[in-house]
Amino acid sequence: MTVPLDGEERLVAPAMANTESAAENALRPKSLDEFIGQQRVRDQIDVLLTAARHRGSPSDHILLSGPPGLGKTTLALILASEMQAPIRISSGPAITHAGDLAAILSSLVEGEIFFLDEIHRLPRPAEELLYLAMEDFRVDVVVGKGPGATAIPLQLPHFTLVGATTRAGLLPSPLRDRFGFTAHLDFYDEGEIARVLKRSSALLKVEIDDAAIEQIAGRSRGTPRIANRLLRRVRDFAQVQGDQRLTNLHALAALEMYEVDEMGLDRLDRSVLLALVERFNGGPVGLSTLAIAVGEETETVEAVAEPFLVRNGFMARTPRGRIATALGWRHVGHEPPAHVSQQTAFIFDTSEEDA
Ligand code: ADP
Repeated sequence: MTVPLDGEERLVAPAMANTESAAENALRPKSLDEFIGQQRVRDQIDVLLTAARHRGSPSDHILLSGPPGLGKTTLALILASEMQAPIRISSGPAITHAGDLAAILSSLVEGEIFFLDEIHRLPRPAEELLYLAMEDFRVDVVVGKGPGATAIPLQLPHFTLVGATTRAGLLPSPLRDRFGFTAHLDFYDEGEIARVLKRSSALLKVEIDDAAIEQIAGRSRGTPRIANRLLRRVRDFAQVQGDQRLTNLHALAALEMYEVDEMGLDRLDRSVLLALVERFNGGPVGLSTLAIAVGEETETVEAVAEPFLVRNGFMARTPRGRIATALGWRHVGHEPPAHVSQQTAFIFDTSEEDA
């Protein structure tokens, strides 16, 4: 059985697949205490919430930044439940006109949390409308057209905007500056992912060996969403075998079937790395050439495979193109040439955050 290479369908894609929202919701932590890891962010949010409760007023606007699948939506929902406030959910790409945003903002109630996912993808006019709304809790509704048009200010209730972004660097500074607090979520370590897996197993009512937890945790790319997805697949595999308890053997066999290797690379990642090493002698090679070599869209390679490969040191971006690192060479079974293994440091391109 093979897994399609398409970004959305990949088992190790950090973004949520269209079909998995119910499965995800069932595993979402409901309170700050249940939220595993990210201690610093949790402490900061705790202080923010306690202060807001003392004041008896809504909290400052909050920006959550970090790669997909690390808990931004979960934190927004927790914020609402801890504040006992209603929450409205939308996203940058869902708002196509400033008018859409004005309609949402004007229908919020006092203290409501407005969760705006992928805020970096908000259209420009909507973004400008948001500045005023965040700062003065006001929108200007324009009535009429041309020279006779007039702006009628409309007062909004005090709401808390919780913005989420995978690309904080893309946010214009006027928008970034209007958040009272920015929390950056980082990848989880294996111990934390193991705790996520234990919690999820209990919720799914499956018994699981520690070795199986460890096995899945090691392949989850530090991302709770991926960990939970791999757990569900291993559970399915064991169920089909008629076994109640998930063992390391189930984990190994299931993950091999789904072609997720011991470092969490899947078929797409490996084929990119293999092409880079075998067809381009380790690079440097341009991204689009590399994409053609693996029969994928450039965007798929750039958004889906590359961030993980670069972040984990299998591949590097250089001004002349992509190159395989010594780790990358070895991972696809080749000994790196001397000039690669002698390289001690790579200049990783950190100019943009990897989504
Ligand atoms: P994001 O909005 O950053 O893409 P989500 O908040 O939707 O990510 O989280 C994806 C899934 O991962 C959730 O369904 C939740 O079950 C799980 N998850 C995320 N963070 C944690 C955490 N800290 N502890 C336990 N589970 C988590």
